[in-house]
Amino acid sequence: MKKLTLSVAALLIAGASFAQTTKSTQCTATTKKNIQCKNTTKTKSKLCYLHDPNYVKPSKTTTVVCNGTTKAGNKCKNKTKNKSGKCRLHTKKD
Ligand SMILES: [Zn+2]
Ligand SMILES: [Zn+2]
Repeated sequence: MKKLTLSVAALLIAGASFAQTTKSTQCTATTKKNIQCKNTTKTKSKLCYLHDPNYVKPSKTTTVVCNGTTKAGNKCKNKTKNKSGKCRLHTKKD
């Protein structure tokens, strides 16, 4: 039984630290109906993305298949979010 207790304790500790790093609070803004916004937020302002005027939308990144070619002349199968449409292997460093 000792083993079980230990692993449970480890889980609890892991869970606690996980909660700490990703702690989100309920948005403090009120909606048009004068009820508290139900969105949760992780920002310091305690406002969700809808109510935070400083919220910056993360730029849309779409994953595409790399348009580079391998040494063998085949199409690269790597996926990339790079604007150039090329994966890390095919993106030339400046
Ligand atoms: Zn909100
Ligand atoms: Zn590639």
